[in-house]
Amino acid sequence: MTISEKVAYLKGLAEGLNLDVEKSKEGKLISVMIGILEELAMSVEDLEENALNLGEEIDVLSDDLADVEEVVFDEDEDGGDFDDDWFQVECPSCGEELVIDDEALAEGEVACPSCGSRFAMDLTDEDEDGEEE
Ligand SMILES: [Zn+2]
Repeated sequence: MTISEKVAYLKGLAEGLNLDVEKSKEGKLISVMIGILEELAMSVEDLEENALNLGEEIDVLSDDLADVEEVVFDEDEDGGDFDDDWFQVECPSCGEELVIDDEALAEGEVACPSCGSRFAMDLTDEDEDGEEE
């Protein structure tokens, strides 16, 4: 039984009681409550339907993304181009060569394994012309 069906069943039960929804306070209360329940049931079922549709769309997108990944990663393997994945900089404190990889870039900070000093990465093009905050 869906929520709508349960509410319809409840409505039928209430109608079977022959409540006076005009003069009886309790009758009016129950009538209003069932009206609200009907609206809620419709909203919930709409949401459930939307969620299902979204799930299907995500599945489709996920499949498409898998196709794109296949193409992208195949190209990388063929080209053997690892230069985009990491590069080296000199530690400003001790001059040690540091490997900057995607992880360090994501953190925005890198630690020197030789002298232990940490410094912020200032490599993004976007930050140069735009004022932050
Ligand atoms: Zn260092």
